[in-house]
Amino acid sequence: MSSPLLSLLRSQETARTILERAVSSGRIHHAYLFTGPDGVGKELAAFGLAQALLCERRTSGANGACGACSACTRAVPREGERTALHPDLVIVERGLHAPQSIGRRTPETQEISIDQIRTLVLSRAAFAPHEGRAKVIIVRRAEELSISAANALLKTLEEPGQKTHFVLVSSQPEALLPTILSRTLAVRFAPLPDDVVADLLAARGIEAKRAREIARLASGSVETGERLADPEESDARERFVERALDAISARTSAGVLALAEEAKKDKDALPSRIAALAAALAARAADAAAASSTDAEALANRGRHALTALEHLAGNGAPQLVVEAMLMRMRTS
Ligand SMILES: [Zn+2]
Repeated sequence: MSSPLLSLLRSQETARTILERAVSSGRIHHAYLFTGPDGVGKELAAFGLAQALLCERRTSGANGACGACSACTRAVPREGERTALHPDLVIVERGLHAPQSIGRRTPETQEISIDQIRTLVLSRAAFAPHEGRAKVIIVRRAEELSISAANALLKTLEEPGQKTHFVLVSSQPEALLPTILSRTLAVRFAPLPDDVVADLLAARGIEAKRAREIARLASGSVETGERLADPEESDARERFVERALDAISARTSAGVLALAEEAKKDKDALPSRIAALAAALAARAADAAAASSTDAEALANRGRHALTALEHLAGNGAPQLVVEAMLMRMRTS
């Protein structure tokens, strides 16, 4: 028998308390905004909430759902899939639905289009749920809503109609329109503690010792951890660190510019690569300090530039500019 998803949420006491209270009191808000880094449980919580709303054997407990009935099973995407089978659960995501199914000729490459909002959300707003319990709309990466799509959603977000609930999920809530923010109830998800990331990685089949090492570099995100554990990415990361170290001490800035250029296409992998560079510099600084070398301070400063770059990336800085500025500063420190 499967467990209700909400019971699997690890750490996240704040979010858990808000959701468990809502579910057990039966007063579930009509429009949530789940914010926080990727890979910390936002999506799991969104589908857990969908289970609580759609379950055929709703319980009065903190999870609200049984986790095992047909509705609970259909409210969650199967392994490796992005959509779920329950007809009262709508998943909105850029590029998820075939263009012709949402009334478009071309794929959504940049944004969640107003076409998707019209076809999947607005056109169904007037109808009762197919199975009678509730309608749930989950919007992945809500910051990708186009301005017209976001505007089209506003009225429904404010007055979604009976039994309709929205969960907007975003790691970049600052990129959402203020009008969306003001119509949703924000629930914050924090980075996970390293030991929780290590546990979750181990549960996905990564050897325990390695899982602990990776967890230290994963910035509290299981998703980042999984990427770090991927052998191909781990080679690419080592190459990035070597090339960065070469570029810092090279006579010309050609190496810096090349790495900055490549950063554009390796956007997702970049934070873990820069974290690895920071770790490499910190280790060298420690060695230099132990040997009373005069290089220790310069190395430590370079490590700090890497950490600053990570902050800029998290704050939505353009990858190319962040990498270029970081390496240029390292060259002069
Ligand atoms: Zn159920």
